Amino acid sequence: MIIDENKCFGCGQCMASCTVGSAIFFTRRNDSAVICQVDQEECLECGNCLRVVTCPGEAMSESESIHTYPRSVTKYFSDPRWTHPATQIPGRGTEEVKTNDVTGRIRRGQVGVALEFGRPGLGARFSDVEKVIIKLARLGVHFEENNPLTSLMDPETGHLDPQVLSTRVLSGILEIMIPIEKLDAVLETIREASSQVESVFSLDVICRMDPDGTIPVLDTLDRLGFAYRPNAKVNMGLGRPLFQEDSP
Ligand code: SF4
Ligand code: SF4
Repeated sequence: MIIDENKCFGCGQCMASCTVGSAIFFTRRNDSAVICQVDQEECLECGNCLRVVTCPGEAMSESESIHTYPRSVTKYFSDPRWTHPATQIPGRGTEEVKTNDVTGRIRRGQVGVALEFGRPGLGARFSDVEKVIIKLARLGVHFEENNPLTSLMDPETGHLDPQVLSTRVLSGILEIMIPIEKLDAVLETIREASSQVESVFSLDVICRMDPDGTIPVLDTLDRLGFAYRPNAKVNMGLGRPLFQEDSP
């Protein structure tokens, strides 16, 4: 985001709308008038200030750099209206489990694990995210192909493109798929790696219920001491499955 110093009145309305809280600051123009400017290091290009504030001077505009890699990556992962080329949908991850009744992406015996890095006000740096990805890659997990983070990494090693390592984004979602037998190792690895991440992340563990209503991952979560909040979705028959169920 940029602010045209010749149009800004220094009213400060945009400061209050800044998602990270610190990217817009007061300064003085040469004629000593108080104006606002944007710290380009702090700004995550989320576009919130432009969306919610009616700037009296029409001084705010998107930076040209958001169209150029790697700054464009900051935009993709921070502005929910922006469509990432890897997924062709707005947002930081994929549709994941939301459409599982139709796609059958997560079958019985499989577990999806998603890590949601960063939050408004804090964000997350890719160098931290990479630490977790490298450890998971060593376990041979399957990284979701159409995920925006996967498009930046070598799935064999978990290394991200060095050009984006210093990039900070509002939020990014890592999505992996594993056989349920690997869940112990994956959760222990994530727990170990969490101390090296200087941000917050939430952990989603996704599976299908067994026909008798059992949730097959709960035993593992209990045994490893993970607190959880169940969040279920039931197919009401509104989505036509595009897959054949493997087992009854
Ligand atoms: S809202 Fe507009 S005029 Fe007011 S401080 Fe921000 S950029 Fe300047
Ligand atoms: S684009 Fe987002 S991070 Fe940048 S100044 Fe505006 S609200 Fe703050």
